[in-house]
Amino acid sequence: MSVYYLETSLMTIIKKNVSLQPLRRKGEKLLFEMDALVQFNIPVSGLKDGLHTYDFQIDSSFFECFEASPLKEGNVNVKVYFDKRPDLYVLTFDLKGIVKTTCDRCLDEFNLPIKGTHDLMVKFDETEHEDADIIYILRGEKSLSIAKYVYEFINLSMPIMKTHDDADEDCNEDIVKYLNNYNFDEKEEESESKENPMWEALKKFKKK
Ligand SMILES: [Zn+2]
Repeated sequence: MSVYYLETSLMTIIKKNVSLQPLRRKGEKLLFEMDALVQFNIPVSGLKDGLHTYDFQIDSSFFECFEASPLKEGNVNVKVYFDKRPDLYVLTFDLKGIVKTTCDRCLDEFNLPIKGTHDLMVKFDETEHEDADIIYILRGEKSLSIAKYVYEFINLSMPIMKTHDDADEDCNEDIVKYLNNYNFDEKEEESESKENPMWEALKKFKKK
């Protein structure tokens, strides 16, 4: 097998599994981004049956590989327990660390601690597809890219509502004072809107 073929098949695996949109501004940048994800390709065909452990350290170079990622910075340790069995692979992702995100109450940035354990099962089929927590790959696939799942599980480990409370920190005082003084009474809002001729016109328009 030629080196060229190996390289192109590796690129296909990365593209297929990670939906990576490499920036093509600079050749260097592209190489850097690929390098950040190459470590997540597990050489499954060369592994003996049994349990294998992998340890990854995620930082901003990882998040840069995912276009439109809401997360840009972080420091997350990911341990992957890879149980290779003859007819399936069972993967457990144990993650712990911090990600920089925006507080949903005061809108300031803060370091959110995250941790979680997620399982993924890999089975074989004649076509590649995914179904909840099971992914199907072709039998005889040489390598399995897990970067996409690491990314998904980091996102899943974040609470829906993220505030400074999660980091045992205080919110931005000025914003909290402003929010406390602001009247959110819905009834008042409604009566105000009734007086607004624009709103009335819009309501009539909707009824038509
Ligand atoms: Zn806050």
